Amino acid sequence: MANPSLLILPGDGIGPEVMAQVRRVIDWFGANRDLAFDVSEDLVGGAAYDKHGTPLHDDTMARAQEVDAVLLGAVGGPKYDDLDFSVKPERGLLRLRKEMDLFSNLRPAQCFDALADFSSLKKDVVAGLDIMIVRELTSGVYFGEPRGIHKEGNERVGINTQRYTESEIARVARSAFELARKRSNKVCSMEKANVMESGILWRQVVQEIHDAEYPDVELSHMYADNGAMQLVRAPKQFDVIVTDNLFGDVLSDCAAMLTGSLGMLPSASLGLPMANGRPKALYEPVHGSAPDITGQGKANPIACILSFAMALRYSFDEGENADLLEGAVQKVLADGVRTADLMGPEGGSPVSTTEMGDAILAA
Ligand code: ATP
Ligand code: MG
Repeated sequence: MANPSLLILPGDGIGPEVMAQVRRVIDWFGANRDLAFDVSEDLVGGAAYDKHGTPLHDDTMARAQEVDAVLLGAVGGPKYDDLDFSVKPERGLLRLRKEMDLFSNLRPAQCFDALADFSSLKKDVVAGLDIMIVRELTSGVYFGEPRGIHKEGNERVGINTQRYTESEIARVARSAFELARKRSNKVCSMEKANVMESGILWRQVVQEIHDAEYPDVELSHMYADNGAMQLVRAPKQFDVIVTDNLFGDVLSDCAAMLTGSLGMLPSASLGLPMANGRPKALYEPVHGSAPDITGQGKANPIACILSFAMALRYSFDEGENADLLEGAVQKVLADGVRTADLMGPEGGSPVSTTEMGDAILAA
């Protein structure tokens, strides 16, 4: 059988720096765990604009549709701030998400014991936290029509429309239930069914999919405002949270900060299954291109490395190898190895991006 294929798009800023460490991790799995990938690398974002005049070349888009998984670093930077909207680096990423139809955005919020002091919350509230927010990514109020700013009489009116079809809700619900079966078998669905029609439909469809296809999964429903409160009050009550695009945007950022540093957070965006049964998939760190530290060897590669761990788990069914990699990250942190972003106010001597890679490989 052919090796599974990976398209690597390092992008801009610290993207190539953190991705270089992921490349070493990938090579390690090939050499030590009999797990080899066919890796190809290409440009995205400002790097693609510089070479091709577009943030995503058609050939790269076509390749992304063919491979088993795409791994992306970060896009953007001040150099591209004045570009026309149509060729902005971020448009490269948006095109990938749109054409691959990546409707299910997985954002884990996991608190590494060694970093529990970093949370804005008390240590006992977050220690051992391991939850996953599943955000619907391709519909809802960010895309619904009609939209725009109109004149009504003497004043302007800004309009957006929250719109969800049954099938859009059903497919993201299924992806949350599938995920729950690989975790603690528990899903909490969040909407505002008390005040929104789309929320009423959301709750109905999630319940129907549950009853018909996933009766073994424990399902609860919560209004999203209460959900925000509960996330900050007692986040460990949750396992998988499934919610719409707007609430998911807010709740996933909120959950992220329960865990401390931006340099630690991976994400996955999944679409429908391909012919080989694997979902269309793009993995990327939550952080951006961090222009303020680019080229200084300061970037924390862990978010990008954990994004690859998610690829192992969700694209390649390599749960054990994903555990191995996440375990190595845990160990390195427990040993006190820190990039600059993980230094507390008391300071210390941080390691470089490459040294963090060294430590994870050694572990
Ligand atoms: P974007 O608009 O692309 O999301 P942003 O401006 O929101 O970008 P980031 O580029 O993620 O934010 O940077 C926010 C801050 O976090 C910066 O100070 C940056 O240096 C820091 N940061 C982000 N990622 C990392 C990382 N991997 N390692 C260390 N510091 C990081
Ligand atoms: Mg940002």
